[in-house]
Amino acid sequence: LTFLGIESSCDDTAAAVVRHAPGAPAEILSSVVDGQTALHAAFGGVVPEIAARAHAERLDLCVEQALAESGLRFGDLDGIAVTAGPGLIGGVLSGVMCAKGIAAGTGLPLVGVNHLAGHALTPRLTDGLAFPYLMLLVSGGHCQFLLVRGVEEFTRLGGSIDDAPGEAFDKTAKLLGLPQPGGPVVEVEAKAGNPRRFAFPRPMLDRPGCDMSFSGLKTALLRARDALISAQGGLTRQDRADLCAGFQAAVADVLAEKTRRALALVRDETATPVLAVAGGVAANGAIRAGLQAVCAAAGARFLAPPLRLCTDNAAMIAWAGIERFRAGARDGMALSARPRWPLDKTSPALIGFGK
Ligand code: ATP
Ligand code: FE
Repeated sequence: LTFLGIESSCDDTAAAVVRHAPGAPAEILSSVVDGQTALHAAFGGVVPEIAARAHAERLDLCVEQALAESGLRFGDLDGIAVTAGPGLIGGVLSGVMCAKGIAAGTGLPLVGVNHLAGHALTPRLTDGLAFPYLMLLVSGGHCQFLLVRGVEEFTRLGGSIDDAPGEAFDKTAKLLGLPQPGGPVVEVEAKAGNPRRFAFPRPMLDRPGCDMSFSGLKTALLRARDALISAQGGLTRQDRADLCAGFQAAVADVLAEKTRRALALVRDETATPVLAVAGGVAANGAIRAGLQAVCAAAGARFLAPPLRLCTDNAAMIAWAGIERFRAGARDGMALSARPRWPLDKTSPALIGFGK
């Protein structure tokens, strides 16, 4: 099967062509990602109206480019997959309208994909991972542990009850006068810092289960920063590095400990223990090292797809579309865009929740 994938739920306009024959590894024939970071830079965050307009303007070109790079034409495809949510509704609508237009014009089947399912199924695209497996999705907008049981069967084991870690990294950068996106910059600063100089909390480690909280870290950072400013009139480079290192170590510790618990929770459910990660925050070296250590101690495999497939892209949408299509999904013109769409809505009873 060969599918065109379309993604426009946040600030990346993306199109990709993926081919898969059963028994063989999947092939990404093309994957175009047109980011909007520069468009939103002046506003300190993604502006929904600007994002929607940019998606509407760029989608056709992205699709054209993805097709050209794959060397295929619409007639060579078996279907079209598009992110139908969750996300900024204007962007999601732009993508769904574009996909419907192509489907109407070509007669190709149209399959809607949950953006989070796209991330969660990526280890099957890259490594052919078999169900069920444990997944940690950790990005700018999301933070959750999922037991992925099937194409449409996800059990949420826990996650952040407030900010996503990527959001916390971005806010940390903002508070310290560093540029956006904050994650990579904070990581670089932290390399020169002492993680023990400031006492950052490890929120919710005293509570059972896999839920997490990251908004308190931002408050701790703000307090430490303001104390330094009132004591010495500003921040030195070393202060900044130490604050970044302390913050990053706290996030890494919380994610590692909660991952240890998640692995233990699903131990009896998964044949070969594995932790798959996705999301931009999984690029962080310190966080990755913490997760790898926990996996090594638990005898679990650590699987991180290449970064370009960990962050938002359309190859994961094309892939999830192929998987849903094989499972019988055909959405067609009835497909609607959904701003909210929890992944575990259709999942069976939660297992071991809160244990
Ligand atoms: P979502 O996909 O959940 O809607 P998103 O598009 O913001 O959210 P991604 O593109 O997966 O998420 O990741 C971007 C986030 O990852 C940003 O918040 C960014 O700061 C963070 N990030 C990127 N690199 C690093 C890093 N090295 N360390 C920590 N965080 C990072
Ligand atoms: Fe995403």
